Amino acid sequence: KTDQSGTGKVNDRKVKKLDGYVGFANLPNQVYRKAVKKGFEFTLMVVGRSGLGKSTLINTMFLADIYGKEHPGPSLRVGKTVRVETNRCMLKEKGVNLSLTVVDTPGFGDAVDNSDCWQPVLEYIESRYEEYLNAESRVNRKVQHDSRVHCCLYFLESNSHGMTPLDVEFMQRLHDKVNIIPIISKADTMTPDEVTEYKKQILKEIAQHKIKIYDFPDSDKDEDRENLKKLKARVPFAVVGSTEVHEVDGKKVRGRKYPWGLVEVENLDHCDFVALRNMLLRTHLQDLKEVTSNVHYENFRFRKLACFSADGPKGMTKNPLAQMEDEKRDHDAKLKKMETEMEQVFEMKVKEKKQKLKDSEIALQQKNEQMLKRLESEASELDERRRQLELEIRDWESSSGISLDELRRRSLERETT
Ligand code: GDP
Repeated sequence: KTDQSGTGKVNDRKVKKLDGYVGFANLPNQVYRKAVKKGFEFTLMVVGRSGLGKSTLINTMFLADIYGKEHPGPSLRVGKTVRVETNRCMLKEKGVNLSLTVVDTPGFGDAVDNSDCWQPVLEYIESRYEEYLNAESRVNRKVQHDSRVHCCLYFLESNSHGMTPLDVEFMQRLHDKVNIIPIISKADTMTPDEVTEYKKQILKEIAQHKIKIYDFPDSDKDEDRENLKKLKARVPFAVVGSTEVHEVDGKKVRGRKYPWGLVEVENLDHCDFVALRNMLLRTHLQDLKEVTSNVHYENFRFRKLACFSADGPKGMTKNPLAQMEDEKRDHDAKLKKMETEMEQVFEMKVKEKKQKLKDSEIALQQKNEQMLKRLESEASELDERRRQLELEIRDWESSSGISLDELRRRSLERETT
């Protein structure tokens, strides 16, 4: 129901009961079928020094040889510079297709001086955002592939006392660009107490350095909430990777066999592998994609459009929208400058006029004062002359023995006779 003004605002939120089956209840199935037909895309990045068990973990996680037979192994992959390599494959589970891209960063942390080795990783992540932004800005905005990095598994050294300066720098540089999940690899080389202590130390340092790792949101299903909370409490995940399958009580299990026993990869009493896999693939894959799109990519887009991408990939040409923003800012600045200049000129003119008025007022006042003085001196002069005259009259009256009034009266009488 819309309001009378035609604004389209719904003003009646009451749920109407239908008399029969209309059909839109099937909408979720339509969406589901379409999504399944289209398939899903997910890009997972693994970062960490070579030999930490990254490729083994990925192969264990997807139960497939993601890296392929040609994977050269850690010793051969050690290089002086950090490279970014992508492995793409199509996985199928119960009719659902997942196009998985694993981005590896061989050479990371392997050099003597690792101060800048986060740079190629950052450049790769931003170049994917750039690619997506360009595809979105075209006339035909249909984005064919979403190759943005949805999650970065950052491998921390096992048997360490805390994070290295490189770990801190990497996370600080990238935590607002990509979802980071810290991983303690080869957890089987540590005792459970060591793992607990190490986790505490890492979380403490993450908080100290104000690093924002990916925060697994709680489940919206009540029944899953408690279980998820328990899994979330295991962050940073201490994992064991192995592609070997062993038989335990007639059951096939993945694990690492030692003379003293078997470390089971998928046993939560042995390591956090299942917690990581469940949260990454079963419960939070979609959220990781949404956070990438709604937070990290949006931040990139904003920085790009507002031309704040000072630390973005080198040689980036300016986006036309950003250019327009720039020009508008320049124009506004010019207008503002002109306005202030005009105000200054106006103020100066008013000041000059006021000064002139003040000057002529002073001159007029001086003239008045001078005239007043002259009149006063003339008045006193006249006074003096009258006094003199009166004295002369009195002298004459006393010498002649007749007053002036008497003389006037006699001359009047003479005139009348
Ligand atoms: P990458 O260079 O980080 O990809 O490391 P790899 O996955 O190639 O593994 C390096 C070596 O560590 C291999 O010999 C693996 O067998 C071994 N490895 C992998 N995962 C684990 C683990 O969880 N525990 C132990 N002890 N060794 C592992």
